[in-house]
Amino acid sequence: MKASKKGLGRISRKLHEVFLDCLFPINCLGCQKENHWLCSNCRQKIKTSTEQVCPKCEKNLTPDGKVCHHCRPDSPLDGLLVCASYQDRQLRQTIHNFKYRFVSDLAIPLGKILTEKIGSSSIPLPDLILPVPLHPRRERWRGFNQSHLLAKQVSQNLTPNFEISLDSKTLQRIRFTDSQMKIKNYQKRYLNLKNAFKIIDPEKIRQKRILLIDDIATTGATIFECAEVLREAGASEIFAVVLARQEINR
Ligand SMILES: [Zn+2]
Ligand SMILES: [Zn+2]
Repeated sequence: MKASKKGLGRISRKLHEVFLDCLFPINCLGCQKENHWLCSNCRQKIKTSTEQVCPKCEKNLTPDGKVCHHCRPDSPLDGLLVCASYQDRQLRQTIHNFKYRFVSDLAIPLGKILTEKIGSSSIPLPDLILPVPLHPRRERWRGFNQSHLLAKQVSQNLTPNFEISLDSKTLQRIRFTDSQMKIKNYQKRYLNLKNAFKIIDPEKIRQKRILLIDDIATTGATIFECAEVLREAGASEIFAVVLARQEINR
């Protein structure tokens, strides 16, 4: 009896999917091609960034967004690699649909952009991939953490023969903060994030090369704050990668 109920459940879920597909057919955001959220053609048209700057001073050009030697001594972060420009309309639209229209399948093409960019960079292969966490309240609202879905794609695809460990538990966001997007003032963005993150088990981080993944960085305050707690927990190297960096007026 139970098994047939399960079977019925599966069929009704399938019917539900078919029903949704008819109501909301999937078309590529770029060219309308059917059955793709973003076809590989349109994904490849997104221009990747060629020049990268030091994420701390944001002035000196550095290979793969590594922190420049002037900023080195007081930076918890070793580098921030930016995949593409937020000026790219296709990328902006894709991220918007991913985050605010909850199209979680877009993690696949967006994950590819991240994976290809990391793969062609000189960033060391990480021991551990960490998504920038959302506060549980925000994650419940969205239904998923967009950075976790992206990090999962990277952990599965960065190296062809094995999966790099993905850890979405050890780094936690313990304070509910205002959305960084709402805060225009540069200093306030940093203050907003003070003590927002915590490492629940430093043993998992000690002596590890960490790669942090997020969708967008603006001032980089979130990433620097995460890097700070990771460094305190004894991480040996901390790099971060984002799809794009959104410019704000300071
Ligand atoms: Zn397309
Ligand atoms: Zn610098």
